[in-house]
Amino acid sequence: MSTDCDIMRAMHAIEVSGLVKRYGALVAVDGISFTVERGEVFGLLGPNGAGKTTTVEVIEGLRKLDDGTVRVLDTDVVRNSKEIKQRIGIQLQTSSLFESLTAREVLDLFGSFYRKKLPADELISLLNLQEKRNSLVKNLSGGQQQRLSVALALVNDPEVVFLDEPTTGLDPQARRALWEVIEHLKRRDRAILLTTHQMEEAERLCDRVAIIDHGHILAMGKPRDLVKSNFEEVAIEFEADGRIDLGSLKGLEGVSNIREEEGVVTVYTKEAQGTLAVLLSSAAKGEWQMDNMRVRVATLEDVFLKLTGRRIRE
Ligand code: ATP
Repeated sequence: MSTDCDIMRAMHAIEVSGLVKRYGALVAVDGISFTVERGEVFGLLGPNGAGKTTTVEVIEGLRKLDDGTVRVLDTDVVRNSKEIKQRIGIQLQTSSLFESLTAREVLDLFGSFYRKKLPADELISLLNLQEKRNSLVKNLSGGQQQRLSVALALVNDPEVVFLDEPTTGLDPQARRALWEVIEHLKRRDRAILLTTHQMEEAERLCDRVAIIDHGHILAMGKPRDLVKSNFEEVAIEFEADGRIDLGSLKGLEGVSNIREEEGVVTVYTKEAQGTLAVLLSSAAKGEWQMDNMRVRVATLEDVFLKLTGRRIRE
C-alpha cells in the first residue's frame, strides 16, 4: 500500500535534498534542495562558477555526490543511473563530437542507444533543421549545432530534459524559436531543468527559478514572486554626467537604493512619481545632464544584485 509520503515523492520529476559536491577542498555545491515537477520549467540561475553545471551533472548521474540524495522520476540516480538514462534527455555540446556525420546520421546514431525513440524527421522539423539534415555537423553554424544538440537531447522522447545554457550564442530569432520548443515540451508535461545566465530567458520561460551563488540557493520561487517579495520599488534608469549629486538623491522620499555603473544610474524608489519629478526638475535646471531615461519594474537581475551586491554577468 502506498503512503502519502510515497505519493508526494512520485509527484516530483526531480527531487534534490541536501546535495553536497566537493572538488578537493572546494565545496562547489553546499547542501542545496529543490524539486522540479512534471510540466514545469525550472531554472538554475547564477553567475559563472556558482555550481549550476555541477548540480545538473550530479542529477544526470554524470558526477558522484558527496552528500544528500537525488531522485529522478522516483528513482535513485546513484543506484540506478543506467535505467534512468533511458528516460532523461541531456543536452551535450555536439560541435567537437561526430563532426563527420550528418545531422540526420547523428540523430539516428543517438536514437539507436535508446529503447524508445522519436522519428529523426520529427526532431529535425521541431528544431527547424530541415535544410541542414544532410549537412555534416562540422559545417553547421554555431546556432544550428546548438539546435542539433537540443534535438539530440530529445531523441528518446525524455520525461525529464536537462538544458545547459540552451540559447547561448543564438541570435534573437533562433532564441525565440528555441523558447517555443521548450514551451512545447512543457505542454507535453515534460519536466525541464535549465541553467542560464540570462534573466530575460528565466523570466520568460521558467515557472520557478533557484538563484544560486557559491553553491548555495539564495532564493527560490516564481520569478514574479521573487521580484515582488524583494522589491516594492520600480527602477528609474538614466545616463548622467559627473555633476549629479547621488548623495542628495538618497535622501528623497521613497528612494531605497541607488546604483551607478559606467555612467548609468539606477534609482530604486517606492514613490516613482515624486522621485521622477525631482530628477526631471533638477536636470531641467541644468544642474546635470540626463539622457536615455526609462522607468522599469524590477527584474531578477535586480534581485540578484540586492542579494549579492553583484551582477549575474560580471
Ligand atoms: P558556469 O556558468 O561557468 O558553467 P556553474 O555555475 O555551472 O558555472 P560549475 O561549473 O558547477 O559552476 O562550477 C562550480 C565550482 O566548481 C567552480 O568554482 C568551478 O571552478 C569548480 N569546478 C567545476 N568543475 C570542476 C572540476 N572538475 N574540478 C575542480 N573544480 C571544478
